[in-house]
Amino acid sequence: MENFSFRDFRQQFPILTEQVNGQALIYFDNAATTQKPQCVIDSYQDYYQRCNANVHRASHALSTMATMDYEKARSSVKNFINANTEQEVIWTKGSTESINLVAQSWGRSSLKAGDEIVLSYCAHHANIVPWQLVAEQTGAKIKLLALNENGVIATEQLEQVIGERTKIVCVAHISNVIGKINPVADIIRVAKRFQALTLIDGAQAIAHIPVDVTALGCDFYVFSAHKMYGPTGVGVLYGKQELLDKMPPYQGGGEMIKSVSFDHTTFNTLPHKFEAGTPNIAGIIAFGAAIDFLNQQPCRALLDYENRLRDYCFTQLVTVPGLAFIVEAAPDIPVFSFTLAEHHNHDVAAALDSVGVAIRAGHHCAMPLMSYLQLDGCLRLSLSAYNSFAEVDYAVTALQRISQEKLSVKSADSRVIAPA
Ligand code: PMP
Repeated sequence: MENFSFRDFRQQFPILTEQVNGQALIYFDNAATTQKPQCVIDSYQDYYQRCNANVHRASHALSTMATMDYEKARSSVKNFINANTEQEVIWTKGSTESINLVAQSWGRSSLKAGDEIVLSYCAHHANIVPWQLVAEQTGAKIKLLALNENGVIATEQLEQVIGERTKIVCVAHISNVIGKINPVADIIRVAKRFQALTLIDGAQAIAHIPVDVTALGCDFYVFSAHKMYGPTGVGVLYGKQELLDKMPPYQGGGEMIKSVSFDHTTFNTLPHKFEAGTPNIAGIIAFGAAIDFLNQQPCRALLDYENRLRDYCFTQLVTVPGLAFIVEAAPDIPVFSFTLAEHHNHDVAAALDSVGVAIRAGHHCAMPLMSYLQLDGCLRLSLSAYNSFAEVDYAVTALQRISQEKLSVKSADSRVIAPA
């Protein structure tokens, strides 16, 4: 196995040398968005400095250059997830827009009263609300998959919930709160038996586990660039070509048409049929740079480092008095959700922020999951491969202090270990 140099990796993220509240930043909110390496920042800037032009429109040199970089990014994504063709990779604003696209294009044109959409209790709002909207529009019903004691979608119930009326099953590959891998292969197998489609929300999985959409055999897979070291405002909808071909456009406008007249409009071929208007060209090109960056990393060694950091963080968090994980099982990716006895989640997050540690408090866009687990909300600490063991020690010591003293850690001399 090739070596992974944590220091070399970390050095590429300029923001990690910033100070927050007079303290070295410890960024533990990676499930919300990851930081960006210099090569992604440079790529973004380079587009505007060197080849800013609209794509696919003009026959001048700048536009040709921009179009080449833009389409190269699509090829990189296609290879990264092992899709069959570039036509199966649709650019969107993010996972949220990708799911809305499927709900409004496929769902609105295919669903009818009595049809069933199967979701799960661990869904992010982005994989709930678009389905509620289309259910209201079509008369389809939503059914739910329950979780087992580890917070994973339980396989025993699959055949009771998914059935003849099911038209689509939409589940998270990994929940953004629980951090455990759902049994998506089993879910896809059962859905196929009933000729139901499957949409996998890979927003959290894509940065932490290898994803092969062809091996998975799902119909749709969605993810966001900003959670995998890329820029915000860029996402991907992967869809099987034969399905995308049959689906009506999502939005109308320039670029998605073949010909327009007031009598009749015909639509462009894939992937452009779903990409109306001027896209986020700079963001998409910079996303291509993020994929190149990931491809240059020793993948297995990087994931091995991340897993060791995850295991270490879990064993350290267990030592914090009053800390209760929202599910007992250790997570599969470094996402830890917990509460601290007799402390308000936002107070704990603010206390950590005062010593430079960024974590998140709240419902994490998963209110139905919070109700399911009978919680008002929780804290979420999420790591990336640029985080260090020393940073974990520092945050855990701060948490211990917060928990014992029952007050916010505010003073600068509360720093106990210099982070890497
Ligand atoms: N699904 C999951 C599991 C997520 O974690 C997120 C982001 N928090 C989303 C969907 C939505 O992603 P975006 O906001 O980038 O569209």
